[in-house]
Amino acid sequence: MKGTGTLYTVSAPSGAGKTSLVNALLARSPALQVSVSHTTRAQRPGEQDGVNYHFVDEATFLGMLEEAEFLEHARVFGNLYGTSQGWVETQLAAGTDVILEIDWQGAAQVKRLLVNNDFEVALAELEAIVLSHSLQTPRQQQALSALLQGLLQA
Ligand code: 5GP
Repeated sequence: MKGTGTLYTVSAPSGAGKTSLVNALLARSPALQVSVSHTTRAQRPGEQDGVNYHFVDEATFLGMLEEAEFLEHARVFGNLYGTSQGWVETQLAAGTDVILEIDWQGAAQVKRLLVNNDFEVALAELEAIVLSHSLQTPRQQQALSALLQGLLQA
């Protein structure tokens, strides 16, 4: 991936506090942008198209896949999810940091893309943020250290 922004990947089993971590990161780094994924899963109550996800049907998703529009993609619980390569590249080129909240399959694909060791740098930075944040409360400390374990094994 080219650009001057840093690409962060947060991947952990559901319930491990991924969303809390992402929200904590956003609160600390207002310039950080979260990628809005495309998905074929049904919209849940309270979710907004274009905000939580770009909700698309399977034919549309497969068409985008064919056109190589995804940086990574995976099928999770029968539904397809993907990250827009164009959007991420535009952000990074503009110097904006980007965070992907994706499953382990997607994280493995991103890791393979980052041949220039940016991933290791990003991971080290993320680790530092997580560690400083985890000092705030014992409950958070526990949740985030489990999350960090997951990240380091990703
Ligand atoms: P949910 O449908 O509950 O929002 O998400 C289900 C799983 O899909 C979560 O683990 C979430 O992190 C993952 N996910 C969401 N967007 C993407 C994406 O663009 N790519 C991949 N690989 N996983 C995603």
